[in-house]
Amino acid sequence: MQTPFRVAVIGAGPSGLYTAAALVSTGTPVAVDVFDRLPAPFGLVRYGVAPDHLRTKSVTRALQRPFMESSGVRFLGHVPVGPAGLSAEVLREHYHAVVWASGSISDRGLGIDGETLEGSHGSGEFVSWYSGHPDHIAVRPDLAHSGAVVVGAGNVALDIARILVRSPGELASTDVPDDVLELLRRSEVSDVHIVVRRGPEHVKFTSPELRQLGALEGVDVIVEDRHVIASVDAGALERRQAQNLAILGSWADSTVPARDPGRRRVHLHFLRTPRRLVGQGGRVVGLVVERTEVRDGRLVGTGEEELIHAGLVVRAIGYRSEPIDGLPHDPIRGIVPNVGGRVVDGDRTLTGCYVTGWLKRGPTGVIGTNKACGEETAGAVLSDLGALPAAVEPDPEAIDRRLAELGIVPVVWTDWQRLDDAEVGLGRTRGGAERVKIAHIDAMLAAARGTEAAVPAE
Ligand SMILES: Cc1cc2nc3c(=O)[nH]c(=O)nc-3n(C[C@H](O)[C@H](O)[C@H](O)COP(=O)(O)OP(=O)(O)OC[C@H]3O[C@@H](n4cnc5c(N)ncnc54)[C@H](O)[C@@H]3O)c2cc1C
Repeated sequence: MQTPFRVAVIGAGPSGLYTAAALVSTGTPVAVDVFDRLPAPFGLVRYGVAPDHLRTKSVTRALQRPFMESSGVRFLGHVPVGPAGLSAEVLREHYHAVVWASGSISDRGLGIDGETLEGSHGSGEFVSWYSGHPDHIAVRPDLAHSGAVVVGAGNVALDIARILVRSPGELASTDVPDDVLELLRRSEVSDVHIVVRRGPEHVKFTSPELRQLGALEGVDVIVEDRHVIASVDAGALERRQAQNLAILGSWADSTVPARDPGRRRVHLHFLRTPRRLVGQGGRVVGLVVERTEVRDGRLVGTGEEELIHAGLVVRAIGYRSEPIDGLPHDPIRGIVPNVGGRVVDGDRTLTGCYVTGWLKRGPTGVIGTNKACGEETAGAVLSDLGALPAAVEPDPEAIDRRLAELGIVPVVWTDWQRLDDAEVGLGRTRGGAERVKIAHIDAMLAAARGTEAAVPAE
């Protein structure tokens, strides 16, 4: 048999895994090593998709197929790629092609005063916290206040608001780690304010997610400034916008429920621009917003400010990627510049260097968008392979020795399966949750390797 070409994929999120699947789907002899800096695969499906959206998370069954069905695809978890781990030079020595699929999950800021106060969080770190991401277990937000603000007009803002108001009983059947559940159980947050800069016709919520907010047990949804909804010209809207407006309209038309201490509330504020976070003793106590209005098709401030009292402010206004050592970076689009997945630096195509997923397109699109994206990148790799320089270490096992020299012991697929089993087992003991995440890195590694976990100090 012909010696396979060797391809490294950096990142075991949806885009990396769809790319790996496409690379081995055509019969071209290709061996693929998928590296991830975490011991667990699936990227934002595991650490972004809301814990109560189990159906969405079940896409992992499709994503894992390359590891289950193709002996040519390996998972090498707990291997950071970059200056602190496996370097780009080492990758070049061992692989004909490298596909970067490491996503873009750095939080964007609002650029206003007070953002660094305690109690102010980006959605990336906040979502990572409740999702049990090992880098963010220390976030532990202070939920001992009745008010919380989520700034944003997309589904991530809805996810965060929902997790904050959802009953702990319901959250117990999700995969949130035990200590996250405990903190949410003790939460005193009763009022979550979603602050949207633009009007209701411009929100990026998908209608099922918006509708879900109104269907939550023990939660009232209150549309502030009802006239804003009525003032939208519904006839000029696309289908999704019209559906959203109809949902918002039905809430705006219903009687505002009397304040009931046994219930939680989500308040929707439109046409409000965050101006500054207000602090006391270094902690957030509120967000000042300015009312805006649309004049001649432009959003303009009215000068009228109001303070929303809150001990927690989460900004869910999007993500960006950090520059990667040795790769060009487009700071405006937050991507690695590329043409159809081939990395380019100005006019020059970087031989053997590819990109896929959020790093290729920017942080937009649903999980499924990464399938076509990965297939496009895999297609570029496969059509280039024959022409790529063959100056690659001939022994395929040399990379394993190199990792050992670097002191890196990868978490391989069978290790992940052990960690997976351990989490599923914890789920059974928590009232039938599908799984309970293990978040601490030492405990993850111990479960993966079947060794005794060092009990993390609290
Ligand atoms: C909060 C949130 C909720 C979402 N909810 C939904 C939803 O409900 N439905 C939906 O369809 N889409 C959802 N999305 C979008 C979806 O998750 C993305 O489209 C998708 O995950 C992007 O895939 P990716 O592979 O490009 O990046 P990622 O999923 O981010 O995967 C990148 C992977 O690279 C790894 N990595 C990063 N740096 C390195 C490194 N230096 N070395 C090695 N590995 C590295 C990371 O650990 C990660 O596993 C959500 C996104 C977010 C942020």
